[in-house]
Formats: sequence, C-alpha cells, structure tokens
Amino acid sequence: MLPADWRKRFRGRWSLGRLLAPETTFRIGGPAQLYLEPESVTDLVESVVALRRIGMPYRILGGGSNLLVADRGVEGAVLSLARLRQIKRSEGRITADGGARLSTVVRVAAEQGLSGLEPFGGIPGTVGGAVFGNAGSKYGAIGPRVLALELLRPEGQLERVVPSGSFFGYRHSLVGDSVVLRVELSVEPGDRERVGRRTQDIVRERNRTQPGWVGNAGCVFKNPPGASAGRLIDDAGCKGLTEGRIRVSRRHANFFENVGGGRAESVQRLIDRVRKRVRRASGAELELEVRRWL
Ligand SMILES: Cc1cc2nc3c(=O)[nH]c(=O)nc-3n(C[C@H](O)[C@H](O)[C@H](O)COP(=O)(O)OP(=O)(O)OC[C@H]3O[C@@H](n4cnc5c(N)ncnc54)[C@H](O)[C@@H]3O)c2cc1C
Repeated sequence: MLPADWRKRFRGRWSLGRLLAPETTFRIGGPAQLYLEPESVTDLVESVVALRRIGMPYRILGGGSNLLVADRGVEGAVLSLARLRQIKRSEGRITADGGARLSTVVRVAAEQGLSGLEPFGGIPGTVGGAVFGNAGSKYGAIGPRVLALELLRPEGQLERVVPSGSFFGYRHSLVGDSVVLRVELSVEPGDRERVGRRTQDIVRERNRTQPGWVGNAGCVFKNPPGASAGRLIDDAGCKGLTEGRIRVSRRHANFFENVGGGRAESVQRLIDRVRKRVRRASGAELELEVRRWL
C-alpha cells in the first residue's frame, strides 16, 4: 500500500473500503479502495506524489453533487477535499479553498454586501467542483468570475493559472486531471440588502423548480445548443419513467431521483432509455452533464 514515510507524515484521515454512497447527493456508490481526507495542502500534495510513486490512480471528490459512482465502487484512491475549506476576503475578491462549500461562499459574500455570486445561490457542492464543471444557471456560470486558480498538477507541482477566454466552456473547464486547490472569485461592493434579496430569490426559484439536495445529482444531461434538455425529456413523455428505484423527476425532467436504495446500474439503464426516447421524439442527442465513476 502507501509508503511508510508518507503514512508517518500524513495528518488527515484515511480508510480502506469506505462506502461512497453517503458522500454523494445521489446516495449511490460502492466502496473506494482507499479514501483520503488530507488535512492541508501539504498533505494533499504529498499524497498525490505518494500515489504516483506506487502507481495508484486517484480521483477527486468535492461535494459529490454531480457524481454517479459504480455500485461495485472504485479502484484506486478517492481524495476528498472536505477539510480544505478556508474562505478569505480581500479587495475585490473572495479566495476560497477548493473544498469550501459554494453555498457558504455565496452566503459570506451576501452577508458582506458583495455582489456577483448571487447566481450560484442554492448550487450544492464545493468551489473546486463548481470550477471543474463551470457550474451555473440561466443567470450565469462561475467561469467569468474566476480571477485566478491554484492548481495541483498531476506531476505534483503547484501552478497559479489566470484563466483565458477558452479555459471555460458550457459546463466544462480545462482543469483536466489537476486538483483545484484555491480559487479567487471577483466580487463588487453592493447593497447588502439587495444582494441578500437577489440570492434568496434565486434560491427560492431553485427550490420551487427542482427536487431537493438529496437523492439526485442535479441535471443528468447538458442542454443541447438552443434547447432545454428538461423540455426535450418532458416532450418525449419521460417524466415519471422508472428503472428499479430510480425515477425521472416529475418536478424537473432533467433530474433523476433515487427513491431509496437506487443503484448506478438502474441510473445507467434510465439514461439509455431517456436518450433513446428523446432521439426518437426530437432527433436531439443528449450529452451527459453528470460525471460517472463507473
Ligand atoms: C439539487 C441539485 C441542484 C443542482 N443545480 C445545479 C445548477 O443549477 N447548476 C450547476 O451547474 N450544477 C448544479 N448541480 C450539480 C452540482 O451541484 C454542480 O455540478 C457542482 O458544482 C459539483 O460540485 P461538487 O463539489 O459536488 O463536485 P463533485 O460532484 O464532487 O465532482 C464533480 C466532478 O468535479 C471534480 N472535482 C470536484 N472537486 C474538484 C477539485 N477540487 N479539483 C478538481 N476536480 C474536482 C470531480 O473529480 C468530478 O469529476 C446541482 C446538483 C444538485 C444535487
């Protein structure tokens, strides 16, 4: 397993065979061969270097809110950023660790009357996960708010990146195999009450139109250019469609709900059925938004 010198220095938590289902909002997924929760950036860097040394693959876990994990679990290591969650404010920016909850960052900004992050109110998960997938909504994506990123490259070096125009696309970024350690987000001074109200309005709208934070993984499919995946799925008559304990949400057709005891293989079967029906009904090809560890 991992080198003894690493084990001596590692300050975080680690375990073998930890179940991943409770770490995801879908509540689906078997065990991770090795589960690591580094205590600090040093811990994280040393873990990545040690894992590379023994040739063990690793994956990064944020809030698990955009993930479908295999029922049999995953080989290799899962590195959770749950303990890296500092948030700092300075002139014109909020700097957050990759493991900081996006909802906390949005709340901190609102409490201080800093404007710009309201569109992300109510999006579950971490800042690192949001940047990896350029999370957002009809009110805007996080990419344009990112002033700089601190990345841990797979080879173990740290790099500060100022993203150019092509770094972010629709639900996509060029983070790739790197770990998002820290993110600097731009904010502007605003009126505290107005920022708070706008954030609350967006959260309320989300709560009205989407299922809650548990038992799903957000939107399953990306919106095809100029169309809404949810509308296409609804028009194809898929609302309420079920596979095992997984159901296409009646509230928002682009969400699949785990009604209790759902399995990844059922989600995959439902994905295939919905894609087929939508293709037949509209000719549209649905691309996955949810990330799969299958
Ligand atoms: C109820 C609900 C509503 C949602 N609404 C929205 C929405 O409106 N808009 C939207 O965009 N999304 C939405 N989502 C999806 C999800 O919340 C976002 O995609 C979120 O940004 C994922 O962050 P996470 O930390 O949970 O990432 P995870 O699910 O843990 O990981 C997702 C991917 O990011 C990678 N990753 C995570 N952290 C890092 C890191 N620090 N460095 C490198 N890679 C990393 C993982 O390896 C994985 O590939 C919703 C989800 C739910 C459950």
